[in-house]
Amino acid sequence: MSDRIYMSSPDVGKLEEEYILNALHSGWIAPLGPDVDKFEQEIASRVGRSYAVALSSGTAALHLALLAQGVGPGTVVLTASMTFAATANAICYTGAEPYFIDCLHKTGNMDPELLAKTIPELLGAGERISAIVPVDLLGKAVDYTAIQAVADEYGIPVIADAAESLGATHKNRPVGSWGQSAVFSFNGNKIMTTSGGGMLVTDDSNVAARVRHLATQAREPAVHYEHAEIGYNYRLSNLLAAIGRAQLRRLDEMIDRRRALRTFYKSIFDDVDGVHVFGGDQDGEDNCWLTSIVVDPKRAGFRSDDLRSALTAQNIESRPLWKPMHLQPVFKSSRAKVNGSSESLFEQGLTLPSGSVLQPQEVDFVEAVIKKFLLDQR
Ligand SMILES: *Cc1c(COP(=O)(O)O)cnc(C)c1O
Repeated sequence: MSDRIYMSSPDVGKLEEEYILNALHSGWIAPLGPDVDKFEQEIASRVGRSYAVALSSGTAALHLALLAQGVGPGTVVLTASMTFAATANAICYTGAEPYFIDCLHKTGNMDPELLAKTIPELLGAGERISAIVPVDLLGKAVDYTAIQAVADEYGIPVIADAAESLGATHKNRPVGSWGQSAVFSFNGNKIMTTSGGGMLVTDDSNVAARVRHLATQAREPAVHYEHAEIGYNYRLSNLLAAIGRAQLRRLDEMIDRRRALRTFYKSIFDDVDGVHVFGGDQDGEDNCWLTSIVVDPKRAGFRSDDLRSALTAQNIESRPLWKPMHLQPVFKSSRAKVNGSSESLFEQGLTLPSGSVLQPQEVDFVEAVIKKFLLDQR
């Protein structure tokens, strides 16, 4: 243990130890085995999908979800600018072109009206749109009702990047159940972890079978090794799936703890002029993976970066929100439809320690440091 307080550390303990030891003793030390099968069934049933395929990362899951949907060179994929680079990278792996759509200022999620405006422009210019990839930012569900309605109008598949939002809901329906397919990440910093891993969920048996095939080096069913196309080595190890099963049993308890932190930050910033907890009026539907604040420097009298420096000085980790993809050097020549929201959130947002593993004395310390900072601003 270090003394540093992190934004989101893995929350693993006795139950995970028990599950991984059972898997180890079972002898299934491979990217297949009973824990992978059960983990897939358990995630599918948790989010109400017919099929789930466990994969080596959320990025791998996105990559194969796109390929299985026919995304490839010569097509455009409309995605969120406000996201982690993995979303856009996976699109680029397929040879398709990512086209970035800005967000709603309130949630940071894809703006459905901007999406609705962009599609006819592109189609009118004779372009092919192969998919829409919205992202549930920091665990807040996208407005799937609005996005799906736009997608349906043009018959474009929605592939949901739900890497950050397992356990969240939209209109009381679990995230992961929206879209043609959806992907989760079990990276170390996510709401639950396998130390590294991902999952694709879908109701389409062809998509599930195709993803499974591509993830196992596109090996054909033959006793010898037969391959008719290029595949990938993207399956999840049975040992890691065992950790995931233990984590899934604890998911609701971990969400409750993160939700309590959301409430805690709200109580700190409630009466601070110019500061609000990001997306905080949707808490019931949010898995509260990370809690961020948005600081309007004119009203608050300080910048989010000033608070970040004060926290860093006390060895407390905090970070700006994702830097929008349309501002990233690697995507500087990519097309984007922007409205200023993601740029303003990047400038004014700050993500605070939000992990379910945070101890009460750590939370007290964070509170003391923030309160002292706020007093010093008076
Ligand atoms: C974490 C993340 C991913 C990638 O998941 P990995 O398991 O790290 O590959 C993709 N999209 C978003 C929005 C993420 O936050």
